[in-house]
Amino acid sequence: MKKQTIALHKGTLRDETYGGVNTPIYISSANAYIGREDPVYPRYFNLPNQDAVGHKIASLENAEAGLVFSSGMGAISTSIFAYAGNGDHVVMLDALYGGTHHFATAWFEHFGVQYTFTQTNAQSVMDAVQDNTRVIVIESPTNPLLAVLDIEKIAQFARQKDIITIIDNTFATPVNQTPLDLGIDIVVHSGTKYLGGHSDLCCGMVACSKEKMKKVLDLARVLGPSLDPRCCYLLERSMKTLALRVKEQSRNALKLAQFLEAHKAVSKVHYPGLESFNGHEIAKSQMSDFGAMLSFELSGIDSGKFIAGLKFISPAVSLGGIESTICSPAVTSHAKMTQTERERIGVTDSLLRLSVGAEHIDDLQQDIDNALKNI
Ligand SMILES: *Cc1c(COP(=O)(O)O)cnc(C)c1O
Repeated sequence: MKKQTIALHKGTLRDETYGGVNTPIYISSANAYIGREDPVYPRYFNLPNQDAVGHKIASLENAEAGLVFSSGMGAISTSIFAYAGNGDHVVMLDALYGGTHHFATAWFEHFGVQYTFTQTNAQSVMDAVQDNTRVIVIESPTNPLLAVLDIEKIAQFARQKDIITIIDNTFATPVNQTPLDLGIDIVVHSGTKYLGGHSDLCCGMVACSKEKMKKVLDLARVLGPSLDPRCCYLLERSMKTLALRVKEQSRNALKLAQFLEAHKAVSKVHYPGLESFNGHEIAKSQMSDFGAMLSFELSGIDSGKFIAGLKFISPAVSLGGIESTICSPAVTSHAKMTQTERERIGVTDSLLRLSVGAEHIDDLQQDIDNALKNI
């Protein structure tokens, strides 16, 4: 089956009583226990609605098992700690999502977990591995510079050493990239972004083999970041249009990246789909499309004034919604870093990150062009 069909049909729990085509919402937190080994309970991650949406993400990621969480960080922290404990070492990209970065610097030591941050390339990741490395955590493409890593190279290297690989696939989505097919062990998502897709849900996902899921589920059941069945239903509903949305948004992003690259007020565009992009070839080999996130730098133009001049592309910190949003990483996601640190990793004050929506491409181009002209 193709992604559009999987997104629509997999995981749907048919309503046998009334013949409804949608999954009914099962809200009971008290359920029968007699004759059941594993009673249904919201924090056990086994409600019918949690199962349905878990099945959908598993199918999209070509995984045996999928689990839905109440946030992306719930999914990420649980997956890492399911496989790294006291005395273990974790290799992480320094370009990881801010919350994941903070999780390591603020909490790993407290739990006796060692870590090394590495630069965003496969060689640096492999060079950082020690004898006690148990887990490697990566992202590709990264936020906000869209750097692309050779996923298969890292996965194969880790497999030989019995190291668990975890990838945050939020930016690419399973529509554009399925890392388990490249040898990665565990895929995590902030479902708050593209899976939810309408900027109105907070949730997370994990997809992996049944075997790898055992520990993740066991830890999840005691940490407790489970998702309410009503939200599960909304997420399931949103995911039906995931492929449609992401394909259209990715198409827009490529056109917009080309438009920006040719614009004289723009000095740099970061988008894996551009032939000029460092990492374009790797992206082409491991992604079916290049995603809907891009970032760019204006030449000698106040980015604050530019954002203020946009008509419908709204300034917002999150991403992945069906509507276009824009933000300045220097004053949002990377505000806690010093300017020197930011410049070291390439996040300049003039860098803008655009989450490209499904508006018509002509309107998107016009909004940007007008805002630039009016400064
Ligand atoms: C937003 C985000 C997260 C965190 O997800 P929450 O749902 O906010 O907990 C993790 N990784 C990436 C890449 C994100 O964009």
